[in-house]
Amino acid sequence: MTKILIVEDEEKLARFVELELQYEGYEVEKAYDGRAGIDMVKASPFDLVLLDIMLPGLNGIEVLRRIRQTSDIPVILLTARDAVVDKVTGLDSGADDYITKPFAIEELLARIRALLRKKEPGSQAQAKDVMVYKELSLDTKKREVHVKGTVVPLTKKEFDLLELLMENRNIVLSRETILDKIWGYDFSGGTNAVDVYIRYLRAKLEEPFGTKIFSTVRGVGYAIKDEDQ
Ligand code: CA
Repeated sequence: MTKILIVEDEEKLARFVELELQYEGYEVEKAYDGRAGIDMVKASPFDLVLLDIMLPGLNGIEVLRRIRQTSDIPVILLTARDAVVDKVTGLDSGADDYITKPFAIEELLARIRALLRKKEPGSQAQAKDVMVYKELSLDTKKREVHVKGTVVPLTKKEFDLLELLMENRNIVLSRETILDKIWGYDFSGGTNAVDVYIRYLRAKLEEPFGTKIFSTVRGVGYAIKDEDQ
């Protein structure tokens, strides 16, 4: 059984996430402060840790640094909405991913699944250099995109955005998440940069080929979805 540790001092939030994870079939334990979290990671094997940054005593970044001294367990950081510095420091400190509070539980579950999949030895997510969706293929090594066999030149940002959506197939990514991952924490242009780039991609990849690739999820963001989803 897959075991997840939640390190979060907001007990109500921890309990809510615990129930959702249990409902999905995960085994869950909780720690309400960083020191307890570190002890629990040392004491028993977990498959993944959800780690809040704002903790009393030892903060999440410090907890992460200590966990990383002995373990490469997947860690998803829970960060406050505007704490962009936390995200960068967190990823630098060895976090595998982060999610911004308040988050939709579906997004958290999707990220957990993606991370667990990636950590499986020899998993497809690791092995695949070429990702295919309908008549589009994206070669991450050559950084080339083909639609119906035709090479379509993309700018770096366009390619990165397409790659992000392909890697997170069937997951709706919010504009904020996309902005963070593609433009980075110091970008001040606002979330409509994302809409603009999706328009560029549609103009290059959908319109000339009469295909549909990107789904707009009103009020949330964008996804590349399999037909039956
Ligand atoms: Ca907290």
